Amino acid sequence: MANNRKGRHLTQMKIAAVDPFYLRMPDITTAADGTQDTLLVRVRTDTGLEGWGECDASPLVSLAVYCCPMSHGNIINIRTSLIGETLDAPDDVLRLSEKVRRNGLDIQQIQHAYSGAEIALWDIIGQQLGKPVYRLLAEMSGTSDVAHPKLPYASVLFGDTPEDTYQIAVGLRERGYRAAKFGWGPMGKFGEANDIALVAAAREGMGAAAQIMIDAGVVWGTDYETAYNRAEAFAQFSPTWLEEPLAPDAIDAYGSLAEKNPPVPIAAGEGSSIYRMAEDLIVNGGIQFVQIDAGRIGGIMPSFQVRQLAERRGIQYVNHTFKSHLSLAASLHVFATNPDFDLLEYPAAGSELSQCLVIDPFLVEPDGMVRVKECPGLGVRVDTEAIRPYLAPVRIEVGSDTVFEQTRL
Ligand SMILES: [Mg+2]
Repeated sequence: MANNRKGRHLTQMKIAAVDPFYLRMPDITTAADGTQDTLLVRVRTDTGLEGWGECDASPLVSLAVYCCPMSHGNIINIRTSLIGETLDAPDDVLRLSEKVRRNGLDIQQIQHAYSGAEIALWDIIGQQLGKPVYRLLAEMSGTSDVAHPKLPYASVLFGDTPEDTYQIAVGLRERGYRAAKFGWGPMGKFGEANDIALVAAAREGMGAAAQIMIDAGVVWGTDYETAYNRAEAFAQFSPTWLEEPLAPDAIDAYGSLAEKNPPVPIAAGEGSSIYRMAEDLIVNGGIQFVQIDAGRIGGIMPSFQVRQLAERRGIQYVNHTFKSHLSLAASLHVFATNPDFDLLEYPAAGSELSQCLVIDPFLVEPDGMVRVKECPGLGVRVDTEAIRPYLAPVRIEVGSDTVFEQTRL
């Protein structure tokens, strides 16, 4: 038994199960489409609560971090760290995150893989306390607990040609989107004229009143001169930002680009698998929009810490979400209460798997905005019936030992 602040006795809730699930489409292609497969993490308590999280990661690499046999005291898997632990309050999530990191000190991708479980823990705590996650974050940080609507920008890939891109943009405009991001595909691969034609097509298709964003998909590596030249060339189309013109860890090159003061703001950060990577891009890379994926950076709390850093530095925080609306929910709670952080990456063209993953997706409301759900926890429910056909059963054996066997959905 534990006492809460008012002296009432609470029954301690324990983590009873931590189950990763690998789901995939029948055919996986080389397209830069991260919705073709996924890793979900379900956490269950001994009181019957259930929380879910989603990792934006290589599913089986991350799954291994949930079940790999202990190597020594600094390589202990996530399941072992969590099962049997007490989970009653937000402080418990922070304590358990610390334990997972400590136990996995020498597992290089521990925080990245932990993202799904961390999100699931917040989902459970919100349900237990009857509050949406964004309010728990507001209470912990002593900040406003008023949520604000976000303008969803459709996040799509460039078409193979400028004409294809134009058709995609027209389709998005006809669906009512007032903002859209076009990325990857041919950008940066066929010379400056083609790059400019792609951006021109996106602008023309979306119309003059819309916001457009350009995602270069890390194509110029460390070549900040080319990145600057493209920013200059694209400025005539007034994109809101130029995203990831350089490699995720090209911090010096980002800094050099920032020193040249490009005419289009630079966005980056989705590759951050720990808080420090995002901090480096902000402090030393000079970016103006930081894009964080809660399913990559270690979950909701590290994302929230980047949001707070963005607030201190006067730059804009944006979610990175190219998965299901389970990931979108986790992303949205992180920055729902900041009215200045008003853009929301909104998955608009994902796989059937990603689109059927939750029962209650976030709809664009009649005013064109998306709002966080005022329900306990994350506010979305995983549709286990719908996703069951995509489940790829995993069984890992080492010698005569079964290290992992997937439980039923
Ligand atoms: Mg991107």
